[in-house]
Amino acid sequence: MHALTEAAIRRSMVNCSRSEAAALTPPRDLDDLDWAELDVLGWRDAKAELRGYLVHEQDDGVVGLALRAADTKMSSRRGAMCTLCRTVQPADQISLFTARRVGEAGRNGNTVGTYICADLDCAHRVLAVPRSAERLSEDLQALAVAEQAAGLRDRLRAFTADVLRR
Ligand SMILES: [Zn+2]
Repeated sequence: MHALTEAAIRRSMVNCSRSEAAALTPPRDLDDLDWAELDVLGWRDAKAELRGYLVHEQDDGVVGLALRAADTKMSSRRGAMCTLCRTVQPADQISLFTARRVGEAGRNGNTVGTYICADLDCAHRVLAVPRSAERLSEDLQALAVAEQAAGLRDRLRAFTADVLRR
């Protein structure tokens, strides 16, 4: 994705109020990110424990989603899978997040919920060669990584469409 400024991130938020967008804490390392390798910018709000954000590019522009993490954690003894990047992790590192729907549905308290990596850093996880491809040639490893990234983009688009549905 293309580099974004703090202002552009705030402007991109589709499912929170203007004052909530103004109050969000942007990622600390914005200037150091390798934007070109990222399919989505995801982070937890350093000043609001349960808040998190996913910002990504769609054909018609940049879309930012404000999320709220469940305040209960799953057990670290179990495994769980992120629905966006499909990474399997100890379940306490996966969190249930809800996104308020836009428009009247959102004002009526309607949300979309899904399980996502608790740190929302799915974009970096899909850059790693999957275990199933570790013994393959470099070309095939690159292909596997590209497929992971494409899957992340597809599922993110579907999640976003759900949030935007009126
Ligand atoms: Zn993930």
